[in-house]
Amino acid sequence: MESNPISRRRLLAVAAGALTVAPVVFMSREAFAATNDALRKALQYQDSPKGADKCMLCVQFIPGKSPTDKGMCKAITNDDQISPTGWCAAFVKKA
Ligand code: SF4
Repeated sequence: MESNPISRRRLLAVAAGALTVAPVVFMSREAFAATNDALRKALQYQDSPKGADKCMLCVQFIPGKSPTDKGMCKAITNDDQISPTGWCAAFVKKA
């Protein structure tokens, strides 16, 4: 005997919706990790320093959450995987 079939159906629908949304939320966090390969190539980006010059010392660098996390660059747009110890031809040392 069903005491309240509509509520049970609704509960199942909400649970199914939550199960559908949860992976999308986790996947979207990964989806933001992106590289701009065309600009990286054009600016000869490398994940290692060039001598003493490195992204963390460049005016274009937008740091990540910690000093060792990857960040972004004003010159290489739509790329959040710029290494603080990377380098490219657009390097401009901070004053
Ligand atoms: Fe690094 Fe080049 Fe961006 Fe400067 S311009 S932060 S050196 S990638």
